[in-house]
Amino acid sequence: MASKFPQNGTSSKKGVNPHLKPLFFLSIHRYMAQTTPNHTQTVSGWAAHDSSGKITPYVFKRRENGPNDVTIEILYCGICHTDLHHVRNDWGITMYPVVPGHEITGVVTKVGTNVTRFKTGDRVGVGCLAASCLECEFCKSSQENYCDQIQFTYNGIFWDGSITYGGYSRMLVADQRYVVRVPENLPMDAVAPMLCAGITVYSPMKDTKMLESPGKKLGIIGLGGLGHVAVKFAKAFGLHVTIISTSPSKEKEAKERLGADHFIVSTNPKQMQAGKRSLDFILDTVSANHSLGHYLELLKVNGTMVIVGAPEKPMELPSFPLIFGKRTVKGSMTGGMNETQEMMDVCGKHNITCDIEVVKPDQINEALERLANNDVRYRFVIDIAGQSPNL
Ligand code: NAP
Ligand code: ZN
Repeated sequence: MASKFPQNGTSSKKGVNPHLKPLFFLSIHRYMAQTTPNHTQTVSGWAAHDSSGKITPYVFKRRENGPNDVTIEILYCGICHTDLHHVRNDWGITMYPVVPGHEITGVVTKVGTNVTRFKTGDRVGVGCLAASCLECEFCKSSQENYCDQIQFTYNGIFWDGSITYGGYSRMLVADQRYVVRVPENLPMDAVAPMLCAGITVYSPMKDTKMLESPGKKLGIIGLGGLGHVAVKFAKAFGLHVTIISTSPSKEKEAKERLGADHFIVSTNPKQMQAGKRSLDFILDTVSANHSLGHYLELLKVNGTMVIVGAPEKPMELPSFPLIFGKRTVKGSMTGGMNETQEMMDVCGKHNITCDIEVVKPDQINEALERLANNDVRYRFVIDIAGQSPNL
């Protein structure tokens, strides 16, 4: 099954929405992806064709705008570490060619006959989700992100059997259910990463009641794309923020520009020792393989660690720090659509955007390489319209 993240269990074939039945026949999908009859629109984009991860210009087809669809002229697309995991096939699930990108902002250019929420000219965003079953308890309670049949904006399989292609492209057709409005006061480039990085940290912060606990102490492991947004939400909601980082060079700006209260260098045993039992929550945003043990020691008794980072290998989870501190470790994956709109509106209200470095499409490879080397402050965003003449 195609998915953003590797799945442990397999989906039950019982009671599946008939639109989704082709999910179980990947070879058929590959065939259908090329022949789906209503895929008549030619789109230019950028794709990786193998696990070398090199991105090159790629022309492909998208579906016509259906009754529930909106067509979006893409203006900006963030470069999430998940894109890097996919182009390099870190998780072993990539269906090449892959057109990455799930931090998309743009303008609506067409709406289907059933579309009531959007009109031509609206400023909109699309994140990780492209389709879900619409029938299960999670879809019905606006937690589509936990639908067993969830399909993603790229490397997913849409209801019509076609493989989804993401935002490293000039135009997208999206079902209106998976589109959100972008507040008027927010710039379209710096808000783009909120569609994944933003909702991915906002959702667990809300779920664990951090956002209603001013004064409580939050630790954020990894000051990257997700981590720096988490600092911004945490400060807007009055939390005390400790960054736990492998990069001493990030301390000054973490405190002075992002407003973090405290900074622990995780490779410094003295600092880690001094931080023991000091935090109520920890958000783990680390993209690389790591052991959880010494981070767990930073939690108070009864503290909660939420894992959002998705390294390819299982993480070491020693029992002693769990047992001795009655601590909880849980995961979280992006957010539901209502919550994503709520998060965007919170960004509008508090003027929260990302710290970005804008790149042209012919700089995507360089940007991915720098992201792999932890050399970005704190998110690359592709200026899709600012295309170089040679591409
Ligand atoms: P990112 O910008 O590359 O940030 C990751 C940060 O992890 C780095 O900035 C670095 O921070 C830290 N780090 C890197 N290597 C490390 C190591 N070996 N040990 C400890 N820390 C290390 O990536 P991102 O875009 O924020 O994404 C982070 C992860 O979240 C990725 O695995 C991505 O796939 C996943 N993700 C999950 C979801 C979800 O729904 N759960 C959604 C989006 C992304 P320091 O320099 O401060 O140490
Ligand atoms: Zn992402």
